[in-house]
Amino acid sequence: MRNDIEKILKTETEIQEIIKQLGKQISKDYEGKNPIMICILKGGIVFLSDLMRSISIKVELDFMSLSSYGNSTKSSGVVRIKKDIDADILDRDVIIVEDIVDSGLTLKYLDEYFMQHNPASVKICTLLDKPKAHKIDINIDYVGFEVGNEFVVGYGLDYAQKYRNLPYIGILKKEIYS
Ligand code: 5GP
Repeated sequence: MRNDIEKILKTETEIQEIIKQLGKQISKDYEGKNPIMICILKGGIVFLSDLMRSISIKVELDFMSLSSYGNSTKSSGVVRIKKDIDADILDRDVIIVEDIVDSGLTLKYLDEYFMQHNPASVKICTLLDKPKAHKIDINIDYVGFEVGNEFVVGYGLDYAQKYRNLPYIGILKKEIYS
């Protein structure tokens, strides 16, 4: 698997360090509250698992699954819900936990979708952000790292369902997906 990686962008140590900081900030911002963290499957699962353990306040969890890129590295821009949340988010503080923001279309869709359920608030927490790839104006509340427009894998992020179990974030060699 390592032979398929061109370059490591973020090491395990760097990832854990930034997650500790994000957890500290979220714990501070939501002190006295009981937010519900909604993890976007499957990519967000590894991030959520570390992030929630770096948070010192009481939180609840839920999961949502959306249509993905299939085996491609380009977004279709079309979002479809494959699994909806179970929780009632009326008057709740919602934190969306995402692996990566690319065009921002998924988050725009999610934000609008959750707002229809009248939550107290909706904030976004993503491990990675590709600011140069945004196709719309979006406000992201918590960002781990900004990255370029390269297609990245590892730490939950896949290519054709593989590489999610890499403990770091890396760039695949072009020949793997071209
Ligand atoms: P957006 O709607 O912001 O264009 O896309 C968000 C979703 O696209 C992410 O949750 C992720 O599943 C996928 N995605 C975007 N960029 C990458 C990338 O570089 N690598 C991988 N593995 N998935 C990506």
